[in-house]
Amino acid sequence: MPAECPDLWSGSFTFKEVRVEMIWDEEFETLPREALEALQLKRLKSLVERVYTDVPFYRKQMDGAGIKPGDIKGLDGLGNLPFTTKDDLRDNYPFGLFAVPLERVLRIHASSGTTGKPTVVGYTRRDIDTWAELMARTLACGGTTQGDIVHNSYGYGLFTGGLGAHYGAEKLGTTIIPISGGNTKRQIMIMQDFGSTVLLCTPSYALNLAEVMSEMGMDPSSLKLRVGLFGAEPWSERMRDEIEKKLRIKAVDIYGLSEIIGPGVASECLEAKRGLHIFEDHFIVEVINPETGEVLPPGERGELVFTTITKEAFPVIRYRTKDISRLIKEPCVCGRTFLRMERVTGRSDDMLIIRGVNVFPSQIEHVLMSVEGVEPHYRIIVDREGALDTMEVQVEVSEEIFSDEVKELERLGKRIQGEIKDMLGVSCKVKLVEPRTIQRSEGKA
Ligand SMILES: [Zn+2]
Repeated sequence: MPAECPDLWSGSFTFKEVRVEMIWDEEFETLPREALEALQLKRLKSLVERVYTDVPFYRKQMDGAGIKPGDIKGLDGLGNLPFTTKDDLRDNYPFGLFAVPLERVLRIHASSGTTGKPTVVGYTRRDIDTWAELMARTLACGGTTQGDIVHNSYGYGLFTGGLGAHYGAEKLGTTIIPISGGNTKRQIMIMQDFGSTVLLCTPSYALNLAEVMSEMGMDPSSLKLRVGLFGAEPWSERMRDEIEKKLRIKAVDIYGLSEIIGPGVASECLEAKRGLHIFEDHFIVEVINPETGEVLPPGERGELVFTTITKEAFPVIRYRTKDISRLIKEPCVCGRTFLRMERVTGRSDDMLIIRGVNVFPSQIEHVLMSVEGVEPHYRIIVDREGALDTMEVQVEVSEEIFSDEVKELERLGKRIQGEIKDMLGVSCKVKLVEPRTIQRSEGKA
């Protein structure tokens, strides 16, 4: 952990050397598996007792499944408990799933409901502390240390991104710039004038920043930025390469969702940049088959399910995230012992069924990644002509390619079409469009 400032009243004026420590909470982040599982079980048992007593929804769920809190004898007992879904959260809007009286809730956040009511989550004082610790871990995992100037472009407000990262950065002892989202040119000016070294935002907003810099005729290497922690939306290795190349920084993937705690659920380490360490002393992870609910063995791809074992105000049992990933069991070079999850490659409800075939947008992205001259911006349009589903993929191509002959464009379109057909087994239309014609996000707010 970073050294404290010297205490000027103690008579000692020697400045301590500030140590650079990549692992924020070494004791917990490097726990041997056996000790970790013992801790998880102890915490799980206490959680199940607590929600059975304090949350009518969970008592009803468990009674319905014929399970009493005392039935949980081992970690494998978790699999007998019913899932919790986003619909359950909506049905108990706004505070029905809180496990403490509202007087003990210090803060409320909510996720932007695309349809109807948002989902509401709450935090006690201890929850806020836990969250700050987890975000300090996340930032350290991505290579942030005391002395860094953290440019936080995640939205501040009901969305968990801004404030979640903010408290973690303060806990870690960095200098934080709470700039929030939007007004890209001003962001760039502040980044330059204040000497920001760490960027926090969505990956698509990072690309947007790079594009605006290039429009302004600005060289990103004139900035002090060296690393970016990107999350709140799925992205690909191809996008990582783009961001690293265009902004001249190292880019790491972070993961979280408000229903679990916000950002601070899992993070890639800068050493490996391969898979995100899940903070398993606070969250138990399972991967399930989204169709059947069956728990899959490690290594298989499916839907992530989390149980929060330390949260007080808003604990969840077996929450179905709808995010598609897979677990990596192999030990990591950084020394952390937590399991890693592969970057999220899609959403189980984004899964498109085209003429009976399951299609994840991430598979299409994977195809596009392999084609030279194609920009990492695309849009999938699914329609129905008569009884037949149709799919059109609109892809941005580079300036050079777009100004090529029509024949060349046609050839490229045909090639992408062929590769998508090979990969998915369904045919689609491919439309190549000019650079910067597909709408960019202004950061998630
Ligand atoms: Zn690692």
